[in-house]
Amino acid sequence: MTYIDTHCHLDGEEFNNDRDAVVQRAREAGCGAIFLPAIDLPSCHTVLETCRQYPGYCYPMLGLHPEEVRADWRDQLSEIRKCLNTSLTSHLAPLTSPVIAIGEVGLDFYWSREFEQEQLLAFEEQVRWSIELRLPLMIHCRKAQNEMVSILKRYKDQLPGGVFHCFTGNAQEARQLLEFDRFVLGIGGVLTFKKSNLPATLAPTVASGSAADGDISTPTVASGSAADGDISAPTVVSGSAADGVPLERIVLETDAPYMAPVPMRGKRNESAYVRHIITRLAEAYDVSEEEVAQTTNATACRIFRGVKGE
Ligand SMILES: [Zn+2]
Repeated sequence: MTYIDTHCHLDGEEFNNDRDAVVQRAREAGCGAIFLPAIDLPSCHTVLETCRQYPGYCYPMLGLHPEEVRADWRDQLSEIRKCLNTSLTSHLAPLTSPVIAIGEVGLDFYWSREFEQEQLLAFEEQVRWSIELRLPLMIHCRKAQNEMVSILKRYKDQLPGGVFHCFTGNAQEARQLLEFDRFVLGIGGVLTFKKSNLPATLAPTVASGSAADGDISTPTVASGSAADGDISAPTVVSGSAADGVPLERIVLETDAPYMAPVPMRGKRNESAYVRHIITRLAEAYDVSEEEVAQTTNATACRIFRGVKGE
């Protein structure tokens, strides 16, 4: 089994003492690639540096996280953009994995709306980068879905795609997000929490025990080969989200070191623990773990081009 951890802060200092061991455990567990999001300018550098240490295995994403947006956001963005340009044009470092996305970016009004206007402007600017550079978006959104959706709608037909990371919403919220073709939901540790409604939201028919019509697992991939990289072709046509979320619209993530799944809840998270999320998803969708890994892998490789899933 091979899977991809699409969101892991492996550059974080939490991993400074044993990063090699963490990567080794990930490989042994079947993790074929790890995507690292930046959150601010310093982390753009630590993300790139970490990816340099694990070429072809760790892939960088660069951007300004909404919780890091302050009065100086324009300066931050212009520096991050320079870093992005250098990384995209540098032919001097053949061992470095290519930058695969803009992230993590988005809106977060959970703790404060102090920089609401700045967050909105910084997010929209980075959405335009995504379109200009044809790089998908890794989106963080908390207590701000309506605001986020209204910005994305302005660019709907031009967006190259992306991930709504750490999705924990209800069926209606899932439906609203899945209206964006080429976008998928990032599913992590919350799925395994005892009181989580997420399994029922994702796979209501199966989770409620009457999988008879089997609708939910019907593949809805509409286009031909994704290998031709024609990102403008609609790749997935989703059904109504009242029927749940097709497995083809999900990717796996840890958000490590945060959000460890049961039975590791409360501990430092790491990419090897995605196995617990796969197990829970397989139960929810009533498919094999292998199918969960294969399907989510194919989705990740469709959205993030230039990735080898090992
Ligand atoms: Zn994150």
